[in-house]
Amino acid sequence: MKPHWLCLLFGLTLAVAARAAEIPAVQVVKVNDRVHALLGPMELPNPGNQGYMVNSTLIIGEKGAIVVDTGFTDEIGAHLARTVARLTDKPVTHVINTHHHGDHTFGNSAFPGAKVISSEMCRQLLREHEAEWLATVEGLVGRKFPNTRAVPASEVYPRDSRTEIVIEGVRMVLWVPEGAHTMGDLMIWLPDVRVLLGGDILVNEITPNFRDANVKLWVDVLAQVKELPAQTIIPGHGPLMTRADAAALHGRMASLYAGIQAGYAAGLTDSEIRKKLDLTEWKTLRHFDQVMGNNINRAYLEVEAAAF
Ligand SMILES: [Zn+2]
Repeated sequence: MKPHWLCLLFGLTLAVAARAAEIPAVQVVKVNDRVHALLGPMELPNPGNQGYMVNSTLIIGEKGAIVVDTGFTDEIGAHLARTVARLTDKPVTHVINTHHHGDHTFGNSAFPGAKVISSEMCRQLLREHEAEWLATVEGLVGRKFPNTRAVPASEVYPRDSRTEIVIEGVRMVLWVPEGAHTMGDLMIWLPDVRVLLGGDILVNEITPNFRDANVKLWVDVLAQVKELPAQTIIPGHGPLMTRADAAALHGRMASLYAGIQAGYAAGLTDSEIRKKLDLTEWKTLRHFDQVMGNNINRAYLEVEAAAF
């Protein structure tokens, strides 16, 4: 082999190594004729998944389609749009965001013809925290996403409201709690097919994240979710859930909060409380080691603030 061939080979190898890994395939689960769950990977953002870590949902209406949650980058949004185009030839006329976190909103720009809908607080928080979420995904994936930008909602719903609307012939209730996973969550209840799209208020097989949460309100919302006659719950992360899974999540969250309240009342610090809590069930969940310490600290501060 002549030296210039070696150089060429070496150059090619470098080019391949520098190219971004492919975004993992979307796992499509057909819930019924109208609703497809588009399930994403469960690992935290990394170079291998290119930041793809969220569940989205496709709702097929009469003349157009609705996409709920759009991924962490414009590239993931485009990846989802390609999957949607294989499932329906109807145009995506509406995008709904369940909350402002970048993994749920930053792919909105891949649906340029769609009207974006969210809670009022989601729109505000997305504007305030856009740069921070972009820095997060770029840091974890290890490269820049120069074309990723927030596209905040043009139609918003107020905090602590439930509004029944019809989009593309599909009846849905937009349920904006007072607070839960964030102060701007929005869940979607499809009463005719008894499907709940939970955003990150409902997550399955992973540790819920309390960083922007009001844990007490979250527990209250889960108590109400448990009463809904849902046949299928599409969580923000992880596999599809049943009502029993939602009830189990409520039980875990309620007893954790009660344990922290009891510890605070007994004058313990958050690290002392952590040692006393029974976290056996929590330890089986993904990301426990990365998230749980901060969760307990966050809930402790909330209990402390409520005591004043
Ligand atoms: Zn999320």
